[in-house]
Amino acid sequence: MNEILERPRTMAIPYDRLRYMVPSQHPEPGKPPDKYLVEIDAYNGNGACSCKHFAVRCEPLLRRDVHPREAVETKQIKLKENRQVQDALRCEHILTARSQFVDDVLDAIRNAQEKHTPKAYRVA
Ligand SMILES: [Zn+2]
Repeated sequence: MNEILERPRTMAIPYDRLRYMVPSQHPEPGKPPDKYLVEIDAYNGNGACSCKHFAVRCEPLLRRDVHPREAVETKQIKLKENRQVQDALRCEHILTARSQFVDDVLDAIRNAQEKHTPKAYRVA
């Protein structure tokens, strides 16, 4: 079976669509992966995570209202390869949760459109 399919899914917390439980991307062999709580609307939409990386590297800067661009330009944080500046203060779990959030919103919109759009107006 595909390794990705065996991993626990990133899940929105019921009744709180802006919080996600995100499994660790690098679990220890033979152990179930740690899960991190991500609140995607925290810090004015930057997001917050319960992982150590976020607590040590990102959150202290966010608490001082340091903008991601400023954090990169003043070398307070090193931008990872293939990351955009606006993601500089987001850990991988926040990015995973934001991606899942987009999928969830698209599903919700698609479901609402199917429910409320007359068949004559449907494209596909
Ligand atoms: Zn994290």
